[in-house]
Amino acid sequence: KPSVIFDNVVFGYEKDRTILHGLSFEVPAGKAHAVVGPSGAGKSTLARLLFRFYDPQEGRILIDGQDIRNVTQASLRAAIGVVPQDSVLFNDTIGYNIGYGRDDATQPDIEAAAQGAALMGLIGRLPKGFETEVGERGLKLSGGEKQRVAIARTLVKNPPILLLDEATSALDTRTEQDILATLHRVAEHRTSISIAHRLSTIADADKILVLNEGRLAESGSHAELLRFG
Ligand code: ADP
Ligand code: ADP
Repeated sequence: KPSVIFDNVVFGYEKDRTILHGLSFEVPAGKAHAVVGPSGAGKSTLARLLFRFYDPQEGRILIDGQDIRNVTQASLRAAIGVVPQDSVLFNDTIGYNIGYGRDDATQPDIEAAAQGAALMGLIGRLPKGFETEVGERGLKLSGGEKQRVAIARTLVKNPPILLLDEATSALDTRTEQDILATLHRVAEHRTSISIAHRLSTIADADKILVLNEGRLAESGSHAELLRFG
């Protein structure tokens, strides 16, 4: 179980415009932290740096104590499982979608699908099981069902770090709570970072990091933020 550390990270896309102004925080191993803040605060930028789509101009990002600049792209991708807001699914079965992209399979194999199906039991019951077609000519999954498939696809790769990037933001609150409750159970012991703009999304977080204009404005548990906020 790795920790994730941002150590005095300074970053701008363009030369004269700094977006992150010396950002420091630590997500301890196995903890779930939420990153919130207004649009433009730098939340997506933070995620892109964690993936090394860009490198910081100053400071370091550490996973399990190791500067991610010294980690291969392949192991970085294996370490971090992402669930984005609008997951793109293939026009194929749920099983195929869950099994797709596993590092140990050039194409989805039965084992991956079976493992995925088992995981679906945790993730929630879908109408007709994992042979269900996702695509336009088959059954149309709801937004919530699609996200469950996307989450299962990420989790079958067993990433030690989970990055939820507005993963449930497009869903109604009820569906969101269902999914988050399951995620909480399934991903309990993973290090997780959840980027969100809606308070309902972060109810389960151990700690909340409030980002504003590229700086950490506040951080703390729900109770602490309510007391001092
Ligand atoms: P958030 O995810 O919190 O809404 P972002 O990280 O997307 O914030 O954006 C932070 C700032 O960086 C914004 O001012 C945005 O305009 C700017 N920005 C984001 N992406 C790029 C980019 N690719 N090139 C230049 N500026 C960008
Ligand atoms: P895969 O998970 O299918 O193996 P890759 O390893 O090729 O995907 O890419 C890493 C992940 O980075 C992708 O899942 C992609 O959705 C995700 N990603 C792209 N842009 C962002 C972003 N701004 N924030 C967080 N994750 C992102």
